[in-house]
Amino acid sequence: MAADVKKIGVIGAGQMGGGIAQVGATSGLEAVVYDAHPASLDKARALHEKLLNRAVEKERMTREEADAALGRISYAKSLDDLAGSDWIVEAIIEDAQIKKDLFARLAGMFTDTSVVLATNTSSISITEIATAAGDDASQARIVGMHFFNPVPIMKLVEVIPGLATSDEVVARTTALAEAMGKTPLRANDRAGFVSNRVLMPMINEAFYAWMEGVAEPEAIDGIMKLGCNFPMGPLRLADFIGLDTCEHIMNVLADGLNNDRYRACPKLKQLVTAGRLGDKTGRGVFDYSK
Ligand code: NAD
Repeated sequence: MAADVKKIGVIGAGQMGGGIAQVGATSGLEAVVYDAHPASLDKARALHEKLLNRAVEKERMTREEADAALGRISYAKSLDDLAGSDWIVEAIIEDAQIKKDLFARLAGMFTDTSVVLATNTSSISITEIATAAGDDASQARIVGMHFFNPVPIMKLVEVIPGLATSDEVVARTTALAEAMGKTPLRANDRAGFVSNRVLMPMINEAFYAWMEGVAEPEAIDGIMKLGCNFPMGPLRLADFIGLDTCEHIMNVLADGLNNDRYRACPKLKQLVTAGRLGDKTGRGVFDYSK
């Protein structure tokens, strides 16, 4: 079923887009990754080389396989360079209007409606993003294809159809996720889907616990790790996801579920305002500069 996909275009070369391009390439697909900021492309390229070289050192891959995978990834400074892709995955900033502007542009670029336009959004309504793509035929090929971080390691892909997404596109998304070595699971189009509907309020609550002095961050994380058998505490995980992304997701939950109990904790917002976004800036709740 996924044999029809040979070349994926990935938009956004950040944590997620870089990982999606890498997994596409190691699964045998051509992957073109585009980012509006050239520095992100340079960072993604360096990370791909580092991770695939490490895979060779650890004997998870031969040198030839790693070189072939690296050779299948190209880095594009213009959206036009995605022409010829038969599948697009968008992984840019978690902002509904910016994503909609992009999808309107993509629908105009890819007039062949067999080209699926997937979004890796963590929380934004697929139906809403699809409205930017024009008529029903164009909206039918818009789907949520939600990978998890770090993409090369995490097995899950949440597959989320919007109101207009066709059954065929859902089946093709499921098949492509499997061809990329992932386990696709279906969720419906409600704010946050399943993963972030459940996870993100817990992370937000950990910020409240910190803000209200219930415990210091190390203790909050230590208690949740040991007490709930989590591999990492909620505050460490927030840094890993990106505090800006966490805030965006909370805003989507609050608006989408129409309930203020989902508003982002002021402590989370304060760190975002200060530019302390987590691992990607070297400092968030915790300091990674050393
Ligand atoms: P990130 O900040 O690491 O990367 C985003 C990239 O998009 C940046 O390189 C930025 O330069 C680029 N970008 C921003 N606007 C753009 C535009 N208009 N056109 C082209 N490039 C643009 O963010 P991320 O963590 O990779 O998240 C990307 C998407 O994936 C978001 O929708 C996020 O909610 C979702 N997501 C994130 C995680 C996570 O754990 N971080 C997990 C699953 C899904």
